[in-house]
Amino acid sequence: MIGAHYDSVFGSPGANDNGTGMAATLALARRFASAKPKHTLRFVAFVNEEPPYFLSGEMGSLVYAGRCKAHGDKIFAMISLETIGYFSDAPNSQTYPSPGLGLFYPKIGNFIGFVSNVHSRALLRRVIALFRKHAKIPSEGASLPAFIPGVSWSDQWSFWQHGYPAIMVTDTAPFRYPYYHSSNDTPDKLDYDRFTLVVSGMEKVIQELDK
Ligand SMILES: [Zn+2]
Repeated sequence: MIGAHYDSVFGSPGANDNGTGMAATLALARRFASAKPKHTLRFVAFVNEEPPYFLSGEMGSLVYAGRCKAHGDKIFAMISLETIGYFSDAPNSQTYPSPGLGLFYPKIGNFIGFVSNVHSRALLRRVIALFRKHAKIPSEGASLPAFIPGVSWSDQWSFWQHGYPAIMVTDTAPFRYPYYHSSNDTPDKLDYDRFTLVVSGMEKVIQELDK
């Protein structure tokens, strides 16, 4: 399952958050439209990810994941595409939710991030290994306790609530993007070349996960 939220926070055009995740979902859906996958592939657009719905009973992905559970759907991988279009080569352009993480990860925001909770770490490792095999952009991954700020901040959280393995792909949004949740989150801020490398890499990941 590949999904992204299509709402944006009030007052923000939402080009990066989450126009990029939605555009990537549509592009990937088109790429696989005529494929004959072994597993069912679903591309889902979620409503109500942003406040005041975030982590509430009206969060679109939480409602959706609950129905998957009720139907007995066996989901072995959920990939949440969340704010994936901003990159920077400037020194100290990358920050982290805790100073400790900054010791282990790059200080330049030129990579794409893969984030999961501890329970989904096997899926995270597998996805990163596949991504690194094919993609032409640096990547970093972390399986962290869900309470660390940022780890739960998208639709992967909803699937965790129902016991499904789920990860988030992200440029780390507030920890890098100066226009996060602002009226300046506009299309001119995006790095379309690197954004494309992320989407192409994810296409290969999905192909290989299906094998
Ligand atoms: Zn978002």
